[in-house]
Amino acid sequence: MAKDIILSNVRLIDGIADQARDGVSITISGDRIKAISNDAGPSGPDVEVIDLSGKTVMPGLIDTHVHATLVDDIDLSLFIATGVTTARDLGGKLDKVLTLRERLNKGEVLGPRLFVCGPLLDGNQKSFPTGTFAEILETVPSVEAAPGKINQLLDAGVDGIKLYFAMTPDVMGACIGAIDKRVPVTGHIGATTALEAVTLGIEGLEHMWISPYNNICPAEMRFGPDMSMMSSKFPKVTFKGWEEADLEGPGAQQLFDLMAEKQVKMGTTLDLLWVDNIGLEEALKDTDRIYIPRTGLEHQRALARIVKAGEEWDIHTGYPPGNGKKALEKQKEAVRMLHNKGGVIVGGTDCCGIAYPPPGFALWREAELLADAIGDMAALKAITASAASALRKEDELGSIAPGRYADILVLGKDPSRNVRNLRSLERVYRGGVEYDPTALLAAYPARDFDHLGMAS
Ligand SMILES: [Zn+2]
Repeated sequence: MAKDIILSNVRLIDGIADQARDGVSITISGDRIKAISNDAGPSGPDVEVIDLSGKTVMPGLIDTHVHATLVDDIDLSLFIATGVTTARDLGGKLDKVLTLRERLNKGEVLGPRLFVCGPLLDGNQKSFPTGTFAEILETVPSVEAAPGKINQLLDAGVDGIKLYFAMTPDVMGACIGAIDKRVPVTGHIGATTALEAVTLGIEGLEHMWISPYNNICPAEMRFGPDMSMMSSKFPKVTFKGWEEADLEGPGAQQLFDLMAEKQVKMGTTLDLLWVDNIGLEEALKDTDRIYIPRTGLEHQRALARIVKAGEEWDIHTGYPPGNGKKALEKQKEAVRMLHNKGGVIVGGTDCCGIAYPPPGFALWREAELLADAIGDMAALKAITASAASALRKEDELGSIAPGRYADILVLGKDPSRNVRNLRSLERVYRGGVEYDPTALLAAYPARDFDHLGMAS
């Protein structure tokens, strides 16, 4: 049997406590954490002691919103290289996500532990009639059809259910009733408002930008059932609506109060507006861009050909870059408000569904935007312990305590002082197995950016 490993003399961020603790030792036995002690820990010939004086240790990161089947196997290694040891796939073709989950969990592919929900369950009016996203979408055509569809997915072994944009309140109620709390249910919603969905018993909401929008924006700026997210009107209307939203008003306050009371998980995905946050010019110089997955790049280039655009389209969002900056600031304010009411903030990213920021790097960016809103330590909790609670896996993942999986990060600098220190990642344990992030990134077929003076 393999020896127990002692990570000795670390500064510990355990995912739960509000403060880091110094001089802690962590015993890893097999794939689990066996013990935590406030001294040098056990010693002797049966254990391997690794002195990590000066280093900070924290739980592996959890991205609660990815689309893992839309990228190549090699792209999944980026999650481990950035310390994301668990991910939840929130929309993929059922057979593909189940197969991928099995291959990841058996270790045939290097990547995060994967939790899956199968296809996006949409209303009759499909949100994506054609294109890349059409294959990850299914409709629940009526109230009567809900139990059959839900049971089919649960029998197949999904870990959760994701309800989608065009689903109306009657069908949503029928779906949530049919799930009957057997697995967590979250939604990226539109035709049903967040307040309606939370009242119906939904446990999570995705995208601060979109799901709560109709309860938060001025009444005359709400989108109706015929609004398509694919329309160029969608960002135009919703950015303006966010800018003019009254967060102190009754719509937003009623929603946030109910979300806090019911402990609804708010999956933020603020990173969807990352390009707006830093501006196109900065984004073009961003060295993380070399890790944009091949599939994402091809998708973007195809769009670029349609609109006869140039190189910037590998990260372009489809509307004038920068237009979402004020809306993003307002969304951060909404995150802060919900957090201060005791709501649950969970940092997902939508990576692999979007080309940029790339897998893993996207969660670092999400943490930066969350830290602006709620502070560094709270941002770290949003991508560890709170994220685990969205999966109902808080007893196994997202914190460092005896009995949890040994999903552990070792960092050169303390990220609870500044979440940008997540970039000082030195080693990653997933289930007690050690990985070297630098070596993983070096082995990744990064893009050639010669024209930008960047080495590949
Ligand atoms: Zn998504």
